[in-house]
Amino acid sequence: MAEDITMSTCKRIAIVAHNNKKEELINCLKQHRSVLAQHKLFGTGTTGSLVERELDLPVTKFQSGPLGGDQQLGSLIVSHEIDILFFLIDPLDTHPHIVDVHALLRIAQVWNIVHATTTSTIDFILRSSEMNTPYTRHVFHSVPSKATPKQNLKKHQTSNRKPRIQLPHVSPARKQPVLQQTIFRKC
Ligand code: PGA
Repeated sequence: MAEDITMSTCKRIAIVAHNNKKEELINCLKQHRSVLAQHKLFGTGTTGSLVERELDLPVTKFQSGPLGGDQQLGSLIVSHEIDILFFLIDPLDTHPHIVDVHALLRIAQVWNIVHATTTSTIDFILRSSEMNTPYTRHVFHSVPSKATPKQNLKKHQTSNRKPRIQLPHVSPARKQPVLQQTIFRKC
């Protein structure tokens, strides 16, 4: 299945940066303030506030990333309300919401939006003449499997007939004392 999605001259740009990357992001965006001023900006809570303050440009802000802001942006990509994503991920730190980070990047790939995770790519995009004209992106959704649900179920049942790893059989008689012991400990 293929779909053409055209973004207008005015692009809707989502911006996110992890804490250790925020300064790098602001330094990069400041060089392109006049370009960014011609587009609509969106951002996760802290990043959005920072961009708004440092560039003196309006930003539609969502929740902070760890509180679901990445997911909110992902949802806007799916409903074709975001054209471009700038996401500066800190690759040298751990993040409690790493699954949301991966999900946002995955959905950006699924919908083939223009997205950047480094400042050199952001710089490259913001210098592009395509920022001043409409641009059509082609979205291809490959079909994962041609099998019908019934065929899939049969395949699953057949493969389950001979499990590769045999789990040891535990009789209910042996399980019971353990359960009783757990309950007993709680009291
Ligand atoms: P923040 O969220 O802009 O609220 O800091 C970014 C993130 O960590 O995803």
